[in-house]
Amino acid sequence: MIVGVRTLAPFRVPVTAILIFKAKSACAKSVFQGIIDRKMDQIQLGDQIIRYDREQTRKAYSAMVGGDAERCGCSYCLNFAAQRTTAYPENFRLLLDQLGIDPEKEGEVYECGPDDPLGVYGGWFYFVGELIEAGERITDATSGFQYFFTDAKRLPSPKVDFGKNVLAIEFFTKLPWVISEQP
Ligand SMILES: [Zn+2]
Repeated sequence: MIVGVRTLAPFRVPVTAILIFKAKSACAKSVFQGIIDRKMDQIQLGDQIIRYDREQTRKAYSAMVGGDAERCGCSYCLNFAAQRTTAYPENFRLLLDQLGIDPEKEGEVYECGPDDPLGVYGGWFYFVGELIEAGERITDATSGFQYFFTDAKRLPSPKVDFGKNVLAIEFFTKLPWVISEQP
């Protein structure tokens, strides 16, 4: 029931479409505090609701060697990797941090065709969590960057152990070609 102040801190500044929910009934607080706490925190993104375990996710990422782009090594992936620091909008980076995700270590990234002069990219990050409300996909209309939660069961298994409750946050974006090597 206590949503950690530390994990809330990045969201003191208003972030659209992300709301923090107190888990479970607040009325039982005085009785059950310390007993039913330590459950996953819950957040809502658009009409999707998930619970997530930041510490478990951070642990899994610390065991991960690198991102999918380097694992693949094709020119499309290397073009993506060259832009990682600018590819994600600020509110998405804040969300990744809140979930315990290392933004350098995407679980998968793929190029899905041109949209001249840009290229369309999709990908996702794994994290420890549970899908409470599947909802619909969200679009960040301000930047054209789209992201939403999905059940990782329909995706390939992650390269490191995230336990049995694995979700993914998927994204789609459009990026320019910035490396000298041509596709
Ligand atoms: Zn590739």
